[in-house]
Amino acid sequence: MSDPALHPCFLGPYGENDALLEKLVVEFLRDHVYWRRNFHPEDPPAIPTHAAQAPCFMAFEARLRRELHALSAALKRSVPFHSPRYLGHMVSDLLIPGLAAQMLTLPYNPNNVSEEAGPVTIELELKVGLQLARMLGYPSDPVRRDCAFGHLTSGGTLANYQALRLALAMKAFPVALRAARVPLSEVPQDDWQAFNLSHDATIALLARYQDWLAELPPGDARHWRERIVEERIETLGLLGFFARHPQLKPPVVFAPVTAHYSWSKGLKLVGLGREALRLVPEAGMRTDPTALGELLDAALRERQPVLMSVGVLGSTEFGTIDPIDALVDARDRMQARGLGHWVHVDAAWGGYLATLFREPDGGLRPLADLRADYAGFPSDSVYAAFAALPRTDSVTIDPHKLGYIPYGAGAFVCRNHHAIGLLDESADYVFAAAGGDDFFARHRALGRFIPEGSKAGAAAAAVYVTHQVLPLDHAHFGLLQRQTIHSAEAFRAELACFAAAQAHRVRVREPYPADCNLVCVALNPVGNRDVATMNRYVRTLYDQIRSDPGAPLQLREFFASSTTLDPQLLGPTDTARVLAELDLDPATLDPDDTDADRLVILRHTLMNPWLIDRENGISYLARYFDFLARRL
Ligand SMILES: *Cc1c(COP(=O)(O)O)cnc(C)c1O
Repeated sequence: MSDPALHPCFLGPYGENDALLEKLVVEFLRDHVYWRRNFHPEDPPAIPTHAAQAPCFMAFEARLRRELHALSAALKRSVPFHSPRYLGHMVSDLLIPGLAAQMLTLPYNPNNVSEEAGPVTIELELKVGLQLARMLGYPSDPVRRDCAFGHLTSGGTLANYQALRLALAMKAFPVALRAARVPLSEVPQDDWQAFNLSHDATIALLARYQDWLAELPPGDARHWRERIVEERIETLGLLGFFARHPQLKPPVVFAPVTAHYSWSKGLKLVGLGREALRLVPEAGMRTDPTALGELLDAALRERQPVLMSVGVLGSTEFGTIDPIDALVDARDRMQARGLGHWVHVDAAWGGYLATLFREPDGGLRPLADLRADYAGFPSDSVYAAFAALPRTDSVTIDPHKLGYIPYGAGAFVCRNHHAIGLLDESADYVFAAAGGDDFFARHRALGRFIPEGSKAGAAAAAVYVTHQVLPLDHAHFGLLQRQTIHSAEAFRAELACFAAAQAHRVRVREPYPADCNLVCVALNPVGNRDVATMNRYVRTLYDQIRSDPGAPLQLREFFASSTTLDPQLLGPTDTARVLAELDLDPATLDPDDTDADRLVILRHTLMNPWLIDRENGISYLARYFDFLARRL
């Protein structure tokens, strides 16, 4: 059912809510102007009131208009993300609350680098961090000592990078305390232990250290601070740090084969190098917990430190959800055996699906209640993955994906806000506990903790207002996410009909059952056994549904995306299964031929709220498959 609660949320495929958006934009632009005028009303207008009649003004306006018309015309070649005919990438229409809040905020131009430049929007950004923490099930009451902390980034890529930086800082700090010979019994006895302390033990050590420092005479405290700063990995760099601790190897990162390429970028950026990224074999495009367990065992045996294991909550290419519960279980098990590591969840895509699992009072929604809304969602393993989020160490979420917020809004959230102090650029926080115990005061100098410097306060306003209008639980924001799951279920039903009706012509398979709202489809003409031929066939089909900057938009009936299945990443079992399902001859897979070294498949992102248009009795999903049938 098209939920009436969603009707006011978007501008709409037809611009249905133009009056609402226009009213808001004009009202708040005027409001901004009054604010300027009322700042010091005694100041006369600096731009003369007759300026607009001057020839140079008119010439300027003419040039401006010409360029804006040119821009506006050019933008008509944009990808029609708003349309229910768009099933391509991870983007759809924008929520009016976010769009209006962003436009409202732009002329104030707040900068969330510091309180001085963005006094209002910094506060909103810190609150967004708490809103997201609550959605995940992290402690989100800022008066609690163990409250979580989150901030916005330009996107998921930077949030993942922030996770790497923070995990490394947490791992290396106890080693620095040891190297500086801090006389506290809590400081571990050897470097291996110090480098493998648990998240909670590191936080406790940090707190103990701060208390100890606070009691020293100021001169002694300064001396100790300097000694420790000298030993920190942030001072020494990887080279210097590991040269001083030859018994420690630089750590590795375990990530699933579905990991987004931001992980490769991130490892290059922190200086560990891509070689430190170790891919964990998959089972059904999800981390195989047994394989992860073996890799961790081997790491312990070889005294190979592990920085983190990454779980993906909604993989970019397949929408599959890793067993986060198994990842945190493995972390706890290995911790007990002396191998400590961080569990980070890359939920850039699937993060907002957590709203479906959240009651308005903040509790976890019971599985039975949740299931009543769907044909088959969520599977037991998906439910267990979301239920385990509170046990993870940090999470990446992209408001500019399933949050329906304008680019660039990503977010990083860590379970305990004390951790973030370790990233303070002034290096003093750890020691001074800047801002004391007040959560907001402590974090207002946001620019000192984040990878970016200057950062749009308007983005924070957009995310905050959206979360206020649509709270992050199943009864509010979750209605939107529910629609995406319903769309995916409807898509799969249409897919099954399509596959049956076309069985005489083409084999149609879903290579991996979708966990959420992203569905991939493989197609192979009946009788064909050759991988390269199938790839050509799918590419020809894809040519008609991809966005083509050179062709008029209206010639396109539908948009989808494509991806590939790489046997190198798939592993032999899944490769054999997929080839058999498609009736392909394994001998025709050729690692040396770029046309035949992998399988090309179609990929569909089902986040547009109007894919099933009840108002007019149209299913764009059924139409999409009709369209495909005509093109086969
Ligand atoms: C999109 C995505 C990213 C990268 O996010 P950006 O916002 O594009 O930087 C990282 N991880 C996953 C799983 C993603 O889907």
